[in-house]
Amino acid sequence: MSHDVIVVGGSYAGMAAALQLLRARRKVLIIDAGQRRNRAADASHGFLGQDGADPAMIAGKARSELEAYPTLQWLDDLAPEASTNGPDGGFSVRSWNGAHHVGARLILATGVSDTLPDITGLAERWGQYVFHCPYCHGYELDQGQIGVIAAGPMSLHQAELLTEWGEVTLLVSGALALDEAARAKLAARHIRIEEAPILGIEGGADVRLEDGRRLRFAGLFTAPRTAPSTPIAEQLGCELEPTVSGTQIRRNEMHETSVPGVFACGDAAHIPHSVSIAVGDGALTGIMVHRSLVF
Ligand SMILES: Cc1cc2nc3c(=O)[nH]c(=O)nc-3n(C[C@H](O)[C@H](O)[C@H](O)COP(=O)(O)OP(=O)(O)OC[C@H]3O[C@@H](n4cnc5c(N)ncnc54)[C@H](O)[C@@H]3O)c2cc1C
Repeated sequence: MSHDVIVVGGSYAGMAAALQLLRARRKVLIIDAGQRRNRAADASHGFLGQDGADPAMIAGKARSELEAYPTLQWLDDLAPEASTNGPDGGFSVRSWNGAHHVGARLILATGVSDTLPDITGLAERWGQYVFHCPYCHGYELDQGQIGVIAAGPMSLHQAELLTEWGEVTLLVSGALALDEAARAKLAARHIRIEEAPILGIEGGADVRLEDGRRLRFAGLFTAPRTAPSTPIAEQLGCELEPTVSGTQIRRNEMHETSVPGVFACGDAAHIPHSVSIAVGDGALTGIMVHRSLVF
């Protein structure tokens, strides 16, 4: 077998898993396409010891720490395909450059993709003025005006939670039906309701409504749909499971998916989503995978 473990996805979760295995002198191949989920943000918050640091700097420093271990191979590439080789044959992963890689275990740390509401100007502001996680980006809004752009039923919960960080307006824009109970909940937390359709986002976080009004906010939040960012898990036959925001890879308490020998960690397999949680989850997965090689 060329590698003890192949890790697909070399961001926070994948690197944290690999680090444990490298420290056990295992041969690890990381294949990474370099599309970290937080790539649109300039600062990462809430990770102890790195609060406010550039997310690329955190990932870059981690990679240089891993590269000090001689049993690491790193491939900057996409892995579009993976398959099982049958009993004890391990797994084959094809990288975009055409090479085939074989490993005894496979870790999927591929993160998730975010499907954002289709509103003019929103995608360009993702990670700068439009966010999803209040723990990551709420504090910096300095208790100012916060707009929550409804994307589905979860937006109610998001609006209620965000009152901890500022004065909240829920921009319904046809994405949510509010019954009397929902309106009462919103009123109890002093959340304004704006029902006029949104024309687009302008300036920083200004919302232009179809009736011509322009509402100014310190920041905007929305709840994207999330799903594993690549189809590799499904190709391998790994079961997915629903989450509050979409789907993730199902795994057991050993972090092994429904396909023996294939493990999953980070956003792709676990909610809630954050850098620190992905790192902790990845580290535990690395340990689980190592034990599966020993026992
Ligand atoms: C806008 C935004 C801002 C955020 N800000 C914060 C913050 O301030 N603080 C915080 O704690 N969290 C923040 N997060 C959440 C954080 O980004 C994620 O929780 C974290 O990145 C998850 O790490 P991960 O390793 O699981 O996945 P990711 O970081 O998404 O990495 C997955 C990696 O796998 C690679 N990959 C996927 N498929 C393949 C394939 N087939 N072949 C090869 N490589 C592949 C990708 O290219 C990527 O490099 C933010 C998220 C967003 C969207």
